Amino acid sequence: MILSLLDLFEIGMLIFSIVLIVIFLVIIISTLIVRRNNKYKDFVLQHSAALRQLNEINRHYQFKDIPNFDMKNSYDNEHFYEDISCRDYLTYQLVYIQKKVSIALKDTLENNKLFDEYRKEIGDTCVMNQYDTSNLLKNRNKLTRIENNLFNKSIKKPTTLFSIKVRLILTNINGEYRDSKSDEFVPKEIKDIIFRINQRNGSFYVNDDIWKSICRVERGKVSNKMRFAVYERDHYRCRKCGRKTNDLEVDHIIPIAKGGKSTFDNLQTLCHRCNYEKGSKIE
Ligand SMILES: [Zn+2]
Repeated sequence: MILSLLDLFEIGMLIFSIVLIVIFLVIIISTLIVRRNNKYKDFVLQHSAALRQLNEINRHYQFKDIPNFDMKNSYDNEHFYEDISCRDYLTYQLVYIQKKVSIALKDTLENNKLFDEYRKEIGDTCVMNQYDTSNLLKNRNKLTRIENNLFNKSIKKPTTLFSIKVRLILTNINGEYRDSKSDEFVPKEIKDIIFRINQRNGSFYVNDDIWKSICRVERGKVSNKMRFAVYERDHYRCRKCGRKTNDLEVDHIIPIAKGGKSTFDNLQTLCHRCNYEKGSKIE
């Protein structure tokens, strides 16, 4: 019994030592591999003609930074969420950011053109696998692989494609996710919307679709949360007739169709009847 316990102890120690030796060997071998790789990397960095030529070309090409215009918005009102399309939302935003977007579109085009020249010059100039020393390291395949790797990493990658992604999210009144929809717009569509936004007669949009999109998004800015805040401010009474009814509605004091905005100051509580009468008077 005692003997077998001792045997077990010895076997345990033996396994333990073997494991230790294996771990030790793995550490040594991986250190050696890393050092060897570094040796090759340093060599390529120091002696590769292609890398030197590429760095020289890189100094002459400055690409434009293209900002990201992707947008998203949440609605806690299912009706507005259904009513407003991603295109409507983009149209509304473009009224305000069209200058910046136009610049980005132009810059992307310039990047595109410049990138073509850049790649052509790289193709014409850079010669791979050429070193300014004859004492090459032994493993030529490794040398080639490492040079290709470093070369590709050093090539500039400017933004040459432009698009705007729009994501609309439906939440409940507490902001919890219920549904979402998204769409992506390419330069041609964006330019078309901007063009139609700028077809104006004074302050009127000539294009009816554009105007309807803007109105839909403006109306949709009255969240359920905001609606209840307006009722509360007006003490749950119609601001025209003073009645406290259960068919209260939020009304835009200056109507959206006349350029009114969905701001707290431009909203008031009306009963359904007063709201209806106001609506018919305006029309
Ligand atoms: Zn009323």
